[in-house]
Amino acid sequence: MREAMYWTKLEDGKVRCDLCPHKCILKEGEIGICEGKKNIGGKLIAVNYGETVSLAMDPIEKKPLFHFYPGSYILSTAPNGCNLRCPYCQNYEISIAKADTTYISPEKLVDLAVYYKSRGIAFTYSEPLIWYEYIYDTAPIAKKHNLKIVLVTNGTIEEAPLRELLKWVDAMNIDLKSMDEKYYRTVLKGNLETVKNTIQIASKSIHIEVTNLLIPGVNDTKEQIQKLLEWVAGVNDRIPLHFTRYFPHYKYVKAPTPVETLKMAYEMGRKYLKYVYMGNVYTGEGENTYCPVCGNLLVKRVGYQVNTSGIKKKRCSKCGNPVDFVL
Ligand code: SF4
Repeated sequence: MREAMYWTKLEDGKVRCDLCPHKCILKEGEIGICEGKKNIGGKLIAVNYGETVSLAMDPIEKKPLFHFYPGSYILSTAPNGCNLRCPYCQNYEISIAKADTTYISPEKLVDLAVYYKSRGIAFTYSEPLIWYEYIYDTAPIAKKHNLKIVLVTNGTIEEAPLRELLKWVDAMNIDLKSMDEKYYRTVLKGNLETVKNTIQIASKSIHIEVTNLLIPGVNDTKEQIQKLLEWVAGVNDRIPLHFTRYFPHYKYVKAPTPVETLKMAYEMGRKYLKYVYMGNVYTGEGENTYCPVCGNLLVKRVGYQVNTSGIKKKRCSKCGNPVDFVL
């Protein structure tokens, strides 16, 4: 455990967490919505510090990050908990329900990444931003070993802690779940404007990719997809966008997203953005990267098999256009 970094002391022994827009106000002994911060003795304590529920070496494409060291492996880890309540959560066993944890110190986590010759450390699976202090303490140690820091996140964080953390982060995949503010607020218990702000700020300083989980009857109409595409393109049309297939999980029992819907979104996306992908489904071309100038196949992906032979010296092997990859 460690004292939290963003909090305010209030009257009567209460504290307010200032890390995310929930701004939980906690009496002595109370724990926040994310279950990562607790009022202990009138101080806000990160009780989830280093408490690890998952640890694995993953292909970086699994995050998904397609334009960041393609074909590499990254040590991936997570705590229990989340600051949203998505009723279709694809990882609810650890984000909402709880599993047993093991404490891993920042030094030990870095040792493991070095031992396994990892490209870096990815904080993923549940919601890494609720592990703020742990990431913040681990990152400087990791940097001494030339490890990259990756977050796969819902983007729900206040601006000041975001800007502070970005000094240590190399890449993020940020979920943009819908363009409907009311849906974010009432169903997901989040805040669309905060997520948009996170994408805009992060896109200016680090490599980012965006994921949109397409859910039938929730966010899969042409109008909804177009709104999302227009907004992402307005931030930067070189941000890779992943439309991923939903499968029934947690409280949602609807059938999986039809492949036709993913293909429609993919075709629409190619008109707005340089790089669009389909995830959680095999379509033959929806995972490949094509040169936006000449159409050459830059990276061929089949599952987690990655062939980057279309890139030579950070340029398209056919037309010589510089590629939008961190290599
Ligand atoms: S990080 Fe957790 S405790 Fe802090 S405001 Fe957000 S949900 Fe509440």
